[in-house]
Amino acid sequence: MPFSTILCSVELTDKIKAFYLSIRIHMIIPKANKLSTNELNEVEAIASDFECSILEIQGHNRCVYAILGDESREVMFKRIAGLPFISKVDMIESPYKLMDRRSGLADHRVQVGKTEVGKEEPFFIAGPCTIDPKNPNLFLESAHAIKEAGAHALRGGVWKPRTNPYSYQGDSKSLEIILQAREETRLPIDIEVMDSEQLKLAFDAKVDVLQIGTRNALNYSLLKEVGKLSAGSDTTVLLKRGRHVGSPNEFIAAAEYIVAEGNPNVMLCPRGTTPHLEGYRNHPDESITPLLKNRTWAPVVVDPSHSVGHADFVKACSLAAFAYGADGLCIESHIDPSKGIGDDPKQAIRPEKLKELIQSCQAVWESRYLP
Ligand code: PEP
Ligand code: MN
Repeated sequence: MPFSTILCSVELTDKIKAFYLSIRIHMIIPKANKLSTNELNEVEAIASDFECSILEIQGHNRCVYAILGDESREVMFKRIAGLPFISKVDMIESPYKLMDRRSGLADHRVQVGKTEVGKEEPFFIAGPCTIDPKNPNLFLESAHAIKEAGAHALRGGVWKPRTNPYSYQGDSKSLEIILQAREETRLPIDIEVMDSEQLKLAFDAKVDVLQIGTRNALNYSLLKEVGKLSAGSDTTVLLKRGRHVGSPNEFIAAAEYIVAEGNPNVMLCPRGTTPHLEGYRNHPDESITPLLKNRTWAPVVVDPSHSVGHADFVKACSLAAFAYGADGLCIESHIDPSKGIGDDPKQAIRPEKLKELIQSCQAVWESRYLP
């Protein structure tokens, strides 16, 4: 059975269907790639007659416009659809207006650096869990080896969310180190931000991927701030799934917070949930990938490292993620895990293993599209 048929055959229970179909969306699609200022003013004037506002969502190739507010007014919808520069007003029903697979953003493609995520080949972000500011060379050498292994982007923790307040918490100096690694390798970089100050520092440094970790996955104020600051930019957000066993809809709705502030460049990252499966660090959840892909257009980039939490099991989880339809992976990799800090000693894989893993994943990726 072709993979797309498997995706389409995912059954929704009646309860989920009712929730899923509960909200109406009107999404305005202009004839041109973008509305001119005058055209936008005209649309906004109609919307404001009905106490609604217009949100511009800027993709790489085109803009779409969401109507926010009480949109249940057919007359407003018809007046906007009748404007000569409007191609159509899409009306769909969903709890997440913009993340929905049927929304005007359905053909939006997320790009990291020059790579369109999930288009031609599996996408890989890799790098150490944590940058050790006392040993910058370990990180820089890891970065070069990871590039050589075939990764498309480099990760590295600058500020770290640690369960134990006495564990290493990160250091702003590490931002300089990962910026240097980007300069040397030309790989786009991914770092986690946990608060407004870190967000601003990372955004000002033009960090390519802002990672929102599992502990902040439902921090709606932070999600809004990330969306607002990065609106209209090329910055991509890697949103991890909350570690409690939340529903796929809760996960997608969290991403909606970012998109609704104007940044549609969002990737969803299942990373395992708690309680853990005995022997693993968390409960692996790459299996929710088809559910996510059935409901939203956003690419799914699974994190096998935090999911299983042991270097030896990372490859199995990675292959499973692609078999389930993932677009990419975010993997912890270090040139010498025993010299690493944070999670690296237990779960980072060496770049040689990463290279092998990437090749095996490419084979799964190719086989799933065979007729
Ligand atoms: C990490 O990526 O190193 C990390 C802390 O991830 P998570 O938020 O998934 O625990
Ligand atoms: Mn980690």
